[in-house]
Amino acid sequence: MKQPPTKPNRPYGEIVNLLLSKKLLTKKQVDHSHRIRDKLKTSQNILEILKELKYITDEQIHQTIRDNILSLRIGDMLVELGLINEQDLLTALHIQSQSKPKRKLGEVLVDSKLLEEKKLLNTLSLQLGYEYTDVEFAKIDENIFRKIPLRHYESRSFIPLRIQDNKAVVCFADPLDNNAIRTVSNAMNMTVIPAISSRKSIITAIERLLPTDKTNKTTPNDDNAVTIVNNIITEAIELQDVSDIHIEPLSDRVRIRFRTDGVLVSYKNFPINIHASLSSRIKVLCKADIAEKRRHQDGRMLFVHKESEMDLRVSFYVTVFGEKIVLRLLNRQSELLNIDELGMPRLIRKKFINDALDRPSGVILITGPTGSGKTTTVYSCINYLNNSETSIITAEDPVEYVIEGIGQCSIDPKINLTFEETLRHIVRQDPDVVVIGEIRDRFSAEVAVQAAMTGHKILTTFHTEDSIGGLLRLLNMNIDAFLISSTVVCIVAQRLLRKICPQCAMPYTLTPKDFLRLGMKPEHLENAHFSKGTGCEFCRYTGYKGRIPVFEVLVLNEDVRDGLIQRRTSHQIRKISIESTNMVTLFEDGIYKAAAGITTIDEIMRCLPRFSKPRKLEEIKRLAGE
Ligand SMILES: [Zn+2]
Repeated sequence: MKQPPTKPNRPYGEIVNLLLSKKLLTKKQVDHSHRIRDKLKTSQNILEILKELKYITDEQIHQTIRDNILSLRIGDMLVELGLINEQDLLTALHIQSQSKPKRKLGEVLVDSKLLEEKKLLNTLSLQLGYEYTDVEFAKIDENIFRKIPLRHYESRSFIPLRIQDNKAVVCFADPLDNNAIRTVSNAMNMTVIPAISSRKSIITAIERLLPTDKTNKTTPNDDNAVTIVNNIITEAIELQDVSDIHIEPLSDRVRIRFRTDGVLVSYKNFPINIHASLSSRIKVLCKADIAEKRRHQDGRMLFVHKESEMDLRVSFYVTVFGEKIVLRLLNRQSELLNIDELGMPRLIRKKFINDALDRPSGVILITGPTGSGKTTTVYSCINYLNNSETSIITAEDPVEYVIEGIGQCSIDPKINLTFEETLRHIVRQDPDVVVIGEIRDRFSAEVAVQAAMTGHKILTTFHTEDSIGGLLRLLNMNIDAFLISSTVVCIVAQRLLRKICPQCAMPYTLTPKDFLRLGMKPEHLENAHFSKGTGCEFCRYTGYKGRIPVFEVLVLNEDVRDGLIQRRTSHQIRKISIESTNMVTLFEDGIYKAAAGITTIDEIMRCLPRFSKPRKLEEIKRLAGE
């Protein structure tokens, strides 16, 4: 890995030089403050010390910066003001020099987590006297917004705020971007007063104001609501990676958002007066009570789309502004994944198949939070086990994907087809493989263990953080430790991480902070190729597109079983698992995939638990089978 160059020797900062040339300071005062700093061995910056010594005031510093902003380099200024250190600046300049097209320094600092965006904006606002507004929550006059041709908003880097004394106050993500200021000034034919807002809130504000649908302007009626609801659902289905539709009444509008790759993304806004008819229309579709508006409700619907049926689960939740509606798109798997396509590293997959799936009996647990891809894994296991000599039977809530040749049952409490009732009958069906949708209580856990004791193979899911957590939860459900250790053969923990957008991926150099966050040193990550998406239209400026699962596969051996029976602590059992079974942890599989440029360090930190120190990348690669 390339290291950034080392720091040069720079006696005075540029701001101090300016203050000297304006005779607001004397050389003697500056040297004095340097001596004090050396004596105190503090990392406090010189400007702070000069202020403490009352040689200079905040206002004099601000004014000097304002007068000379065009000649000051922002990076040096941030160092001098003590917001970042020299090393961070050099790291950022290094990243910047490798980016194409060249990115703004402020942006690089924020993206690399060297500087919080809020701190940067506050400093710019304070030092340069720019107004700071969180435009996401500001009222923006649509007429002023439309004074600028819409194509200029493609960069999502500014938004006009208001007209004031015949000048336009415009919020920029980077108020020092002279090109952007000139563009806006020309387009509006006005002098521009720059103000500051975060890029994220500018993007949100623009998406709210961009024209989305002609139905936006029309008055609501029932026909209209039918069309809007149809359009929303159809578009969500056609965008392959949407899992949920959120329809939320706010104080001034109805906001529609889609959960895409696990993250909510703004889709459209509608006038608030259309909310009641949208809600009624959806209630008709999912057979909920139309008259009921004060209680939470749920329902289901089959939505016909291009000759196939899409199953949607709907929930109405009463909020102060009306009913918030969430539609979950079930059977979202576009195809049944072959076990080889799941995304398990080669050696881990081999072990999972040989030592777990191919075993004649025992419990295989797939764990993880909601939306971690457990169902996809279960179905690809079923697919692997499905053949003419095997009887497979399921109890699912609900069936999400119909597979030819197996007996699937959808739980439906409304007609009293409960989970308990189904599980009581399931073993009488003479199955080889039993699939229990989810272990949710002691009863279902007992059914799983009992069935395994009598020679069945059980596949099921469980809500736990990691593989060891799965074992311990079974213990906490009062299932005998001996029974668990003799029936559970394998626990898979998993998560879905967002993949870097292929259209805007850039090589990424780890910062000292990244190493700290990972708990690793540069020599632990030899031959790693990290990347990051800079954001483009293709990925809606998120830098991510699609998702990839990461796995932690624990195949129990004698050592782990002993640890369990002796009721060792989770820390000890984890240590035994890692050392004696060569288990690759979730965090390590994450590092493995980030080092291959598939996902980012940020995603790892956002999604993966870190219970133990990761091994060297080289070692992880060896265990994964590279
Ligand atoms: Zn992109």
